[in-house]
Amino acid sequence: MTASQSQPHASRYPAGAQAFPHRDLLGIGQLERHEILFLLDEAEQWVDLNRQRQKHSDSLAGLTIINAFFENSTRTLLSFEIAGKRLGADVVNMHAAQSSVKKGETLIDTAITLNAMRADAIVIRHGSSGATGLIADKVDCPVLNAGDGQHEHPTQALLDALALRHALRERGQSGDDFTGLTITICGDILHSRVARSNLLCLQALGATVRLCAPPALMPSGIEAMGAQVFHDFDAALDGANVVMMLRLQTERMSGQFIPSAREYHHLYGLTAARLAKAGEHALVMHPGPMNRGVEIDSDVADMIDRSIITRQVEMGVAIRMACLDVLTRRARGVEGWGEVA
Ligand code: ASP
Repeated sequence: MTASQSQPHASRYPAGAQAFPHRDLLGIGQLERHEILFLLDEAEQWVDLNRQRQKHSDSLAGLTIINAFFENSTRTLLSFEIAGKRLGADVVNMHAAQSSVKKGETLIDTAITLNAMRADAIVIRHGSSGATGLIADKVDCPVLNAGDGQHEHPTQALLDALALRHALRERGQSGDDFTGLTITICGDILHSRVARSNLLCLQALGATVRLCAPPALMPSGIEAMGAQVFHDFDAALDGANVVMMLRLQTERMSGQFIPSAREYHHLYGLTAARLAKAGEHALVMHPGPMNRGVEIDSDVADMIDRSIITRQVEMGVAIRMACLDVLTRRARGVEGWGEVA
């Protein structure tokens, strides 16, 4: 990575707050292509910082960030916590299992409580689609959606795009634009906020997106969002440049959606033999948590020259640093960031 690649490209987006004129980050659906590129470019400086021994910046010193997680998380919660701390903020995690939510408090009352504590940013994960938007309406600070039900997981899509950009650059491609790339997303598309956010993000960056799932796990009408729909995994893989595998979201399923994990693996599991049907050198991605032997085989998940799964995790910290930094600029009085739409 050269120094110039690490710096935001001033010519690609409007100056100051107009580069990202949003108070909150609720979904990729609210973003323009140049706003996505802006966040990706902003994240490059944090990728660089995170690769050094001294990983600290004090840009958010004195600010309080609350991570309010109403659903389980490993990667997202940890990386938001690390991101906030590396930027110098005070970070507090609220786990719903240990909170008054268990005592019957409503989401709105929880939001009002968090607001009264004068948080400077609130990061929320919730099992209901739209819950983060509801909270954003009730609080005075930026809200970042860390996954709301089946709806969106915007920072996941951004980190996926950043990981892909880095992998492409290492192969000598520009990585700035995904035009010409075919990306196959396979798994439980119906229940996946990752699939939805990625579809929006990858298409905005120019990629062709194929979605593959058994009919019962494919949302009806998804073609209207521009996706190519497949039920045959081999056909969906044919010539693809990137294969993104998704877990079966059993916690969101009521009833039986697949005959058995064994049969699912037979039809939709990514094995080395199956990967050979994708394009030469196709990259493998997975947002985690993985169920090895179900949607992906271990030898594929760990393929050193093809799998960028750990790279996705690395980029997650940098992306979340970029989002926290950008969204708090107005409150911090950063020059040019006073006005937000
Ligand atoms: N970690 C991702 C999410 O929170 C994917 C998954 O759980 O399967 O949506």
